[in-house]
Amino acid sequence: MKVAKLYKFNDIRIEDIPIPKINSRQALVKVKACGICSGDVMPWYIEKKAPLVLGHEICGEILKIGDSIKQEIPLREGDRVFVHHHAPCMDCFYCKRGDYVQCRTWKESKIYPGGIAEYILLPEIILKNDTLKIPEHISCEEGAMVEPVACVVKSLKRANIKKGDVVLIAGLGIMGQLHVMLAKEFGAKTVIGADMVDFRLKKALEAGADFVIDIKHENINEKINKITDGIMAQSVIVGPGDAEIIKSYLQTVSKGGTLLIFTPTPPDQKICFSINDIYFQDITITTSYSCGPEDTKKALDLISNKKIDFNLLITHKFTIEDTVKAYEITAKAEDSLKCIVTF
Ligand SMILES: [Zn+2]
Ligand SMILES: [Zn+2]
Repeated sequence: MKVAKLYKFNDIRIEDIPIPKINSRQALVKVKACGICSGDVMPWYIEKKAPLVLGHEICGEILKIGDSIKQEIPLREGDRVFVHHHAPCMDCFYCKRGDYVQCRTWKESKIYPGGIAEYILLPEIILKNDTLKIPEHISCEEGAMVEPVACVVKSLKRANIKKGDVVLIAGLGIMGQLHVMLAKEFGAKTVIGADMVDFRLKKALEAGADFVIDIKHENINEKINKITDGIMAQSVIVGPGDAEIIKSYLQTVSKGGTLLIFTPTPPDQKICFSINDIYFQDITITTSYSCGPEDTKKALDLISNKKIDFNLLITHKFTIEDTVKAYEITAKAEDSLKCIVTF
């Protein structure tokens, strides 16, 4: 079978490897669609994992379920499913608190060999705890969007949005656009998007943003000040994983508001800011890392109920042979949002 394997940033090769053999407690899935994640085009992040078979935003069809687990799960051979790249145990200290991504099992579980492959092997834990059957009216491309949507669901839950709030989304790549589309589902009244690429600013308006700010030509603090009559934004969700950018958005947060860091920075980046300012304005700084089973269920729900307009977001489709191109277009981030490899 064919796989897309990354050796270094900008060195992806299509290779032939054997179709995985499953044991009686695993399943074999034929991949139908796999998205290219914006995280996979951050060189510092992806190169520490290399070499690896790319792709973790997966929708496929179950070909075979191991005999020993057939009776223990509600899924059947032939089902079209969303497959999460990791799954938690649901039983440890962290899982009981809902902190699924801190669960040891979550960290250790994985699919083999990776999503941009013709077939993947699923371990029992993923099959049981975070594999979801896709309803008939949802396409496989939409099914592959469950994972990124779930990351946004978790982020919006952690952003402390209260009914009527102003929410600022900084960075309007695919994840920013999903935040724009869904923020009102989580209570926002006014959604503002900020970016420097015209294509993305226009998309955000179509995606439901009330205002967009072109940070190349406009002063973001002045603009937010004007839109909010000086109150500023109650939740600010920052996409770019860069310490200086994250710090610059602190000034856009209102008193009592929250700044959410959506993307990791390289490990050596640090921020220096005034605790005194943060303290007396009661500003919360928080993060949102990946997502768990509650988020994927909610994401599939939102997708099933047509809360997301994928025509606006899935800008490119490729075959596995063209994965290199898909990756380059995603990395360039000019006129693309989500690139999906279909099989
Ligand atoms: Zn992803
Ligand atoms: Zn656990």
